[in-house]
Amino acid sequence: MNTDLIIESLAAVRRAILDNEAHIESLDRAIGDGDHFVNVRRGCEALVALSPDLHDASPSVALQKIGLKLLGTIGGASGPLISSFCIAMGKALGGIAEPDRRQFAVAFTAGVEAIKARGKADVGEKTMLDVLIPASRLLARLADEGVALQELCAQMKDEAQRNMLATKDMIATKGRAYFLGERALGHIDPGSKTCEVAIAAVCDTVSP
Ligand code: ADP
Ligand code: MG
Repeated sequence: MNTDLIIESLAAVRRAILDNEAHIESLDRAIGDGDHFVNVRRGCEALVALSPDLHDASPSVALQKIGLKLLGTIGGASGPLISSFCIAMGKALGGIAEPDRRQFAVAFTAGVEAIKARGKADVGEKTMLDVLIPASRLLARLADEGVALQELCAQMKDEAQRNMLATKDMIATKGRAYFLGERALGHIDPGSKTCEVAIAAVCDTVSP
């Protein structure tokens, strides 16, 4: 993964988020306060504007700049969480010019750990972590096993989709959906949908 691929991935994530507007919007309207899509779109637009300034940066610096930009643009509960993911991932890549899959997987896990620490949440709480934690574990395993990129991406997309759908059957113990109790049952967590869409978009960029 180099910085050009990160920039390409950002553009792909933005397109995929916009393509899923109606769905993401309706999910946060059902069990949140309805702002999640607008929050994330604002972040995506800010990153497209930032992209020209990233070309000469290392992946480490680029990801930290991305995180700082998102901190000031997304807002809501998800803004600081997604921001801390990018900053921690960037820090973990410090000094690595072109991370290989294992290094990328280690950095991804560091990003997920940062969200866990900041949000004080874990798997099974009906949040974005229900997609991200299993994704980080699968990525680490597949990178260790040296699985071919196409296969790795196919498995990552399947896993993200399965775990995003599984949030339907969860009662939230974090985030706004917590206040709904059992009424949140039957609804996918909006942050999980956003993360699933983003993971699929990155996979389609690195393995078209
Ligand atoms: P807000 O809830 O402040 O309106 P958003 O709508 O932007 O913020 O984001 C909501 C999403 O944030 C949820 O769908 C959930 O995935 C995620 N989220 C909320 N609280 C936490 C937490 N403590 N840990 C991890 N993710 C969380
Ligand atoms: Mg919201």
